[in-house]
Amino acid sequence: RKGSVVITGASSGLGLATAKALAETGKWHVIMACRDFLKTERAAKSAGIAKENYTIMHLDLASLDSVRQFVDNFRRSGWPLDVLVCNAAVYLPTAKEPTYTAEGFELSVGTNHLGHFLLSRLLLEDLNKSDYPSKRLIIVGSITGNTNTLAGNVPPKANLGDMRGLAGGLTGLNTSAMIDGGDFDGAKAYKDSKVCNMLTMQEFHRRYHEETGITFASLYPGCIATTGLFREHIPLFRLLFPPFQKYITKGFVSEEESGKRLAQVVSDPSLTKSGVYWSWNKNSASFENQLSQEASNADKARKVWEISEKLVGLA
Ligand code: NDP
Repeated sequence: RKGSVVITGASSGLGLATAKALAETGKWHVIMACRDFLKTERAAKSAGIAKENYTIMHLDLASLDSVRQFVDNFRRSGWPLDVLVCNAAVYLPTAKEPTYTAEGFELSVGTNHLGHFLLSRLLLEDLNKSDYPSKRLIIVGSITGNTNTLAGNVPPKANLGDMRGLAGGLTGLNTSAMIDGGDFDGAKAYKDSKVCNMLTMQEFHRRYHEETGITFASLYPGCIATTGLFREHIPLFRLLFPPFQKYITKGFVSEEESGKRLAQVVSDPSLTKSGVYWSWNKNSASFENQLSQEASNADKARKVWEISEKLVGLA
């Protein structure tokens, strides 16, 4: 049978390109888990994804009710779950004040991390039931959360500190909207959320890989400077960022190429190792990359896991 993959945020950028790459093989049915049905329908059509290869289901990661509703709807749809890709994200680098999810968590960490944390915890059961030969849970990471890289050293740097803000629920009222308890900074909140994504993948691996055989993986797909991720940035940045990445850092990767990379992590028979953070070299060959100290710290991973469980109502 065809593989069945859920991709969050498949309405644009990396998620859409991955959906297209997988659908084109004829071996995958893609469940596009998105907050805007019409946008996703248009995106799928204009990308040329054949009707029989995708289903759109509503998911708003900025609402835990919506996450639970999605899981119910998905189960009722009868599709098996062979691979889950946590890809959606928001990036708010110019925000002066925090904005919030339905439950009142700061929006970047609330969407990118907490929404995906609840989704993947609930869907682990469904992955477990699948009889597909290689079951995978993939959480998209980023170089920007890795302070062992040049890009990860552009201020403000990711830093979870002692997580007092996260423990306080990122409310921005009595406690800070930032994980480390500091002043609000939208760019840093995004980077912190990506560190949480990479730590969560490793904690999943430690807790569940042996018992379930599921492959847990993260990746840095390259700098896809043209996606909607940068929509909130100032116009001059949006104009100069793609050529800067193309000609100066040479880290630029097209949406199509990045989609092929993530599609590899979903389906390539040689990428079954669990607990790995994948990257690609200039010739587009994949390799196991090294995470920064913080993004590979097992104590921090456990702490993120335990606090997040409380915040999303699992503990
Ligand atoms: P895009 O902005 O193009 O795509 C983000 C997707 O997330 C969109 O489909 C968006 O939906 C969706 N999304 C945002 N908020 C929610 C929500 N509340 N509920 C459901 N879906 C939501 O960005 P990219 O394709 O660049 O980003 C995809 C992933 O790649 C992210 O995890 C990002 O961190 C990562 N990444 C990107 C890099 C880059 O250079 N672009 C580099 C490294 C990692 P909608 O269309 O409705 O807005």
